[in-house]
Amino acid sequence: MRSESIPFYIPWITKEDRRAVLDALESRWLTGGPRVADFEQMFSDYIGCKHAIAVNSCTAALHLAMRVLNIKRGDEVIVPVFTFAATANAPIFCGARPVFVDIDEKTYNISPEEVLNKITPKTRAIIPVHYGGQPCDMKEINQIAEDHKLSVVEDCAHSLGAEYMKAKTGNLGSIGCFSFYPTKIITTIEGGIITTNDESLAERMKLLREHGLSKTALDREKSASWFYDVIDLGYNYRLNDVQAALGASQLKRVDLGVRLRVRAADYYTRRLREHLSDEITPPYKADDRSHVFHLYPIRIRRKAGRIGRDEVFRQLMKSGIGVSLHYTPLHLLSFYKRFVDKRTKFPVAQRVYEEILSLPLFPTLTKRNIDFVISKLKAILKTKS
Ligand SMILES: *Cc1c(COP(=O)(O)O)cnc(C)c1O
Repeated sequence: MRSESIPFYIPWITKEDRRAVLDALESRWLTGGPRVADFEQMFSDYIGCKHAIAVNSCTAALHLAMRVLNIKRGDEVIVPVFTFAATANAPIFCGARPVFVDIDEKTYNISPEEVLNKITPKTRAIIPVHYGGQPCDMKEINQIAEDHKLSVVEDCAHSLGAEYMKAKTGNLGSIGCFSFYPTKIITTIEGGIITTNDESLAERMKLLREHGLSKTALDREKSASWFYDVIDLGYNYRLNDVQAALGASQLKRVDLGVRLRVRAADYYTRRLREHLSDEITPPYKADDRSHVFHLYPIRIRRKAGRIGRDEVFRQLMKSGIGVSLHYTPLHLLSFYKRFVDKRTKFPVAQRVYEEILSLPLFPTLTKRNIDFVISKLKAILKTKS
């Protein structure tokens, strides 16, 4: 057999993307210029929200969200235990404590019932993560938030384009935070954006993005004045104009990218059901919301005499198939142990973690690639432990 290798991810960069980047490089404004504003306008139109604020990562987006919601020392912020570190780090940057919550066994999203169990008088906000690209139970989460006067910050790092009750993620809470890291739905290499319908939150996030300055460089040029004041403790969280040009070019074909991902995911699921229905659980897709398949996580069911996830992972990598794991639950990672009581258990996340593995999924993945992955998986799962 011909040797073939399929990486976990291949970025989808087109001729149009390259042209947009080169045009931006040849313009006068390399950062803080008009291409950032254009990208923000395009993004808010796409989401259907009032404001979009481009930043240099989703981590920066989450941090600014916590800052403008005045999250501070002594506060608690609810986050799923089954997520990337950045979700939990945002409240910690502000001196608050992340409170980890277990997930739903089918969707791997934060469980609303478990959220309810973790609310205390110190709770200020919830950060639901739309895991893998499938929206959380936002109706239930928003109801809990309303009943307990909490803010909802959506971590939309996986879910650009996903819809829930006819609204896009990023438009379902107080603030939405997106990532444009290379593996995400669209990329600006590094980058992120914040969405909100609240004008005063948007104004404050723009200020904090840029050193807390009362006037941006573009404002100062327009008014022919050098004057600015510093009115808050800000950061340099700007996205630059070259990145914004790439983002705008990518955003133009976001729906096509999502269709290709969904098509690949559906093909994986069909093949897995045909060939490996006893061994593997494909990702669950709820029928009342859309799923953009940032990830394609499968579960290797445990059975005596059969090899488990660790061995399957190792053998797939050895045979040239790039796989990954989303996620090691945060309570198992050294840094976060200080935030969790040893007696607290996360049985669902623990179980899912021991069985899960993400297969390659990107817009240019072909049916042939998928057939190759399935054939390798079949061969690997035939070996006895
Ligand atoms: C990728 C990711 C982030 C962080 O995004 P960056 O743009 O790399 O800072 C945050 N949350 C989740 C769930 C992610 O997957």
